[in-house]
Amino acid sequence: MASFVMPQKALLTLPTLPTKLRLQPICASKVNARPDVRKEDIVIVGAGIAGLTTAVALQRVGIGSVVLEQADSLRTGGTSLTFFKNGWKVLDAIGVGSELRTQFLELQGILVKSEYGRKLCSFKFKDEDESQEVRAVERRVLLETLAKQLPPDAISFCSKLKNIERSENDEIMLKLEDESQILAKIVIACDGIRSPVAKWMGFRDPKYVGHCAFRGLGFYPNGQPFEPKVTYVYGRGVRAAYVPVSPTKVYWFVCFNSPSPGPKITDASILREETEKLVMDWPRELLNIIKSTADNTIIRTPLVDRWLWPGINPPASRGNVVLVGDAWHPMTPNLGQGACCALEDAVVLAKKLEQAMKFGTSSVEDAFRSYESERWPRIFPLTVRANLVGALLQLENPVVCSLRNNVILPKFVRLGPMLEHTNFDFEPLHLDSV
Ligand SMILES: Cc1cc2nc3c(=O)[nH]c(=O)nc-3n(C[C@H](O)[C@H](O)[C@H](O)COP(=O)(O)OP(=O)(O)OC[C@H]3O[C@@H](n4cnc5c(N)ncnc54)[C@H](O)[C@@H]3O)c2cc1C
Repeated sequence: MASFVMPQKALLTLPTLPTKLRLQPICASKVNARPDVRKEDIVIVGAGIAGLTTAVALQRVGIGSVVLEQADSLRTGGTSLTFFKNGWKVLDAIGVGSELRTQFLELQGILVKSEYGRKLCSFKFKDEDESQEVRAVERRVLLETLAKQLPPDAISFCSKLKNIERSENDEIMLKLEDESQILAKIVIACDGIRSPVAKWMGFRDPKYVGHCAFRGLGFYPNGQPFEPKVTYVYGRGVRAAYVPVSPTKVYWFVCFNSPSPGPKITDASILREETEKLVMDWPRELLNIIKSTADNTIIRTPLVDRWLWPGINPPASRGNVVLVGDAWHPMTPNLGQGACCALEDAVVLAKKLEQAMKFGTSSVEDAFRSYESERWPRIFPLTVRANLVGALLQLENPVVCSLRNNVILPKFVRLGPMLEHTNFDFEPLHLDSV
């Protein structure tokens, strides 16, 4: 396909940054209900972590975009995500690291306990790597912080992508559920694990890996009592963790084996009951954190991933459409890297697009191919490793679990090599406005 370079004017005129986030999002369907065709240069599908980070990174290099989000507002539920130094490097590069740091505790290390509360091993992050930085960030706050960087109308809520087609002149026709249509020159799909765009590109659904996770955010209005470290509790086929997030919030998860993903449960009392049943006789503090969790933050997620075997999966881009984040490479959360990698994707992609569109060094299609060649060697091994780590930690065999708890964890495991993957460098963005 021929390369195209956007008119510089369209790309480089940036609205000034809004000073405050729009609190009451307006549904695009309400303001644009006519089934006529709107034209856009760059459309990002999905206002999750990947979509908003990509929009902010592009804006930082002077490239505007619109973001389509199916929901009527940013995701306000959800729990928190642990970000390691690779995630923080990206958040700094796009100008939101400092604002987030002030709200979330820096975690000092890891403590691993058995289900009976016996200490198995512990590590300090800075002992292994002085530059390591680990904090759990509330998803809601992260999304709001990113959205605040964008012009007020950059996100179109209630804009669910229903269908995607290539038009005769190689532009992309996006059909939304409300029957409105958008003709886009470039589409960046950040629409998560069930990405309709990935399906259109020929990707199969991600694969269920055999375990599910309950998650929640304990709330302590008078201050939470925990040291700033990640505490893991390992049982047989069940494991849990709790992580202080802020002075008043503590994130927890309980991961358990299940032959099938099971039905979607939204009734919070059932979710709570099932979670508590799994860890009933475990260290008391875990149960207390679960009890201090508001119903609307408890969720159950079947864990899935997609191994991007070369030659088996389609490429990450098709012409001027490209996948970012979970839409391309869903991975299990065992290394805490899914969102970190979505952040990495976003800055790498923004750099490639900057080079193609502002400096004309390549076509957009080539930029997308170059993004894939740079990201695949990073993503594929991490996806596989995260899966294998999860499989090992979910083993139920009592002999294997005893060996893990009494020999492997206390005598052989070192944190440094386990966090090697958090070393990540990328070309700096040419900041247009910060
Ligand atoms: C249990 C668990 C724990 C995790 N813990 C961590 C962690 O500690 N650290 C870490 O780095 N990662 C973690 N992750 C991974 C992380 O949550 C994901 O990698 C990350 O959310 C991916 O972001 P995304 O923007 O690609 O997708 P999403 O967050 O899923 O966002 C996709 C967005 O697209 C929108 N959308 C979908 N379809 C459409 C459509 N048709 N039209 C318009 N919009 C659409 C959705 O509404 C959503 O807003 C964890 C994941 C799980 C399941």
